Order: sequence, then C-alpha cells, then structure tokens
Amino acid sequence: MKIICIGRNYSEHAKELNNEIPDKPVVFLKPNTALLKDNKPFYYPEWSKDIHYETELVLKVSKQGKYIDEKFAARYFEEVSVGIDFTARDLQSQQKAKGLPWEIAKAFDNSAVVGTFHQLTSLQKAENINFSLLLNGEKVQDGFHQDMMFSFEKIIAYVSQFFTLQVGDLIYTGTPAGVGPVKIGDKLEAFLEQHSVFSFEVK
Ligand code: ZN
Repeated sequence: MKIICIGRNYSEHAKELNNEIPDKPVVFLKPNTALLKDNKPFYYPEWSKDIHYETELVLKVSKQGKYIDEKFAARYFEEVSVGIDFTARDLQSQQKAKGLPWEIAKAFDNSAVVGTFHQLTSLQKAENINFSLLLNGEKVQDGFHQDMMFSFEKIIAYVSQFFTLQVGDLIYTGTPAGVGPVKIGDKLEAFLEQHSVFSFEVK
C-alpha cells in the first residue's frame, strides 16, 4: 500500500504557514514504513526539534482505479478515519528554502498516524464530517471537510492521473488551521464526529 498526502487543502492553514493558495492539489507520498497505528507511541526523532501535528481526514481506497472521473470518484472509497501527518517543521523549512523535496521532513518512520476506520454511511453528517484533535485533553484542531478547497472526489480524480489507486491505499486530505508542536509526554487523541479513533503518547 501507499500513502498519498494532500498539502494546503484548507485556506486558513495555508495562510497560517504563509503559503500560497494552490490552484491544483499539492501532492506528496509517504512509504508504508511511515504508518503508525493501533495507538502505538510516537517516538520523538533525534534529528528534529520541531515536530508538528497536522490532523487530517484519511480515506481508505476500496477499489483499484486510474484516471478516475470526478463524478465516479465516490465509488473508490467507503471508509474514513482521522490521522496525523507528522511534520518536522524545521527540516521542512530548510528543504523549502532550498527548493528541495520534502520527504525527510514528512515521510519518515511513524509520521503517518491513523485511527480506526468508520464506514462513511455510518456517519451522522457524511456531507460535512467534523473531526478534531485533543492535545493533553484540550481541543487544538477542529475541522469540517466542506472547508477543504479540493473535495474528496477532486483529490481522487487528480491523483489517479499520476498514481494508480490500489485497494488499501490511504489518502491524507490535508489539515485545517491550528497545527502546532508536540513534545515528549504529550497525549494525542482524535475524534471523527463523536468516535474516538486514536489515542497515543509521544515518547
Ligand atoms: Zn498535512
């Protein structure tokens, strides 16, 4: 499986990082070694001093496809969860300043946290899913997927031009505003509507 991530998909978050509002989705990949699940702890890496959480809705691809038309894109996913796209903001800033790729800042081991998946049809408001992150019990991010600039369907149509989507691939759909740093000892818990989907500690 592969992990496809979308950057700058919420205008308020793009603004908080002084990024331009993109006219096409910003896409990057993480390898399967980036996956962190089952509430396992996140070990703070020694080569960064500024790891940030980015809380995102995560789609699980349910059907193989390439060049998927936007109007059929909803047939390619059935389940959603919340994840964290951990980002070494210090390394990312260095890479961006030099115009270099982001992988070392974004795709490192355990940088893709994912929670328990839920069927989209089981959600109360599948047309505008609410998701949130609690840092040590305090809500720090709160998003609604209708605030995304590129919808689930637009993302699938766009990325499937370049990458064949395969069953089990995960798509991280971008973070709303409110990203921030974590430190050792922090506890992170995410909610998809009223469902707690993960809870783990930074060690
Ligand atoms: Zn992200």
